Amino acid sequence: MLTMIRFHPVHHGLAVKVSFFGAMNMLGLAKRVNARILQASTSEVYGDAQESPQTESYWGNVNCHGVRACYDEGKRVAETLFFDFHRQHKIEVRVARIFNTFGPGMHPYDGRVVSNFIMQALSGEDITIYGDGGQTRSFCFVDDLIEGLVRLMNNDTEIGPMNIGNPTEFTIKQLAEMTVRLTKSPSKIIYKPLPQDDPKQRRPDISFAKSALDWEPNVALEEGLAKTIEYFSKLDMRNFKKPTTHDAHKNSEAEEKRAKNASPVRSNGISAATK
Ligand code: UDP
Repeated sequence: MLTMIRFHPVHHGLAVKVSFFGAMNMLGLAKRVNARILQASTSEVYGDAQESPQTESYWGNVNCHGVRACYDEGKRVAETLFFDFHRQHKIEVRVARIFNTFGPGMHPYDGRVVSNFIMQALSGEDITIYGDGGQTRSFCFVDDLIEGLVRLMNNDTEIGPMNIGNPTEFTIKQLAEMTVRLTKSPSKIIYKPLPQDDPKQRRPDISFAKSALDWEPNVALEEGLAKTIEYFSKLDMRNFKKPTTHDAHKNSEAEEKRAKNASPVRSNGISAATK
């Protein structure tokens, strides 16, 4: 659910609400039934990271009032709850920071880069790169991710936070080109504005997971992408409803315009006078 609403304009507040109350309720349940509980946290807690690769000890660089904050801060506050419950109530928490993950089973309209590019390539539409495509992500195939999560849950000593992701980094442009090549698509690559606070680089340091869980990803991007393309090409699209158009990049355009037109107001939307 959180994935579906993470950047929806109307539901921004809801993302924080789901993260906080969802974590609170589930931790209460875990306490009552004495269960071990996993938080599917995210690399998003690092924000627009100034360190690369990101280690678990990095505290992050998050804009707390931007369009992306609902997701970043929601996950951060959920981590806070998990560790508080662990300290105060001795709940057996496990906190995994999941980096960009993809694979068969993705929703064709979830708006993520892998599903967008494959859907666009398969239907011959333009491939939409936001920004100049120089931003990086490290894509983990879903089977590798699940194996990491299962190992973390079965580990009796380590509670996290632990990065679970693929440390091989690609630019978004490279991903677009690879998708076009693998689908043999006639689509052309076009460029759209970069959403506000879009992280420039993201790459996990997985030393902790390697040593604690004896885990590392096995599936390279190209291999996983081929499997994902096959999945998308067989989907019966009548079973999926198109979402309302998302406006993450419109937000950044509006922000830029506002900054240009009203000089005393800074680009972050806060009046200089209030700072
Ligand atoms: N992106 C893009 N075109 C799209 C969708 C996303 O260029 O159609 C970019 C997006 O701006 C970001 C990267 O791809 O830089 C990954 O986006 P995604 O939403 O998949 O994941 P996240 O930003 O949460 O890492």
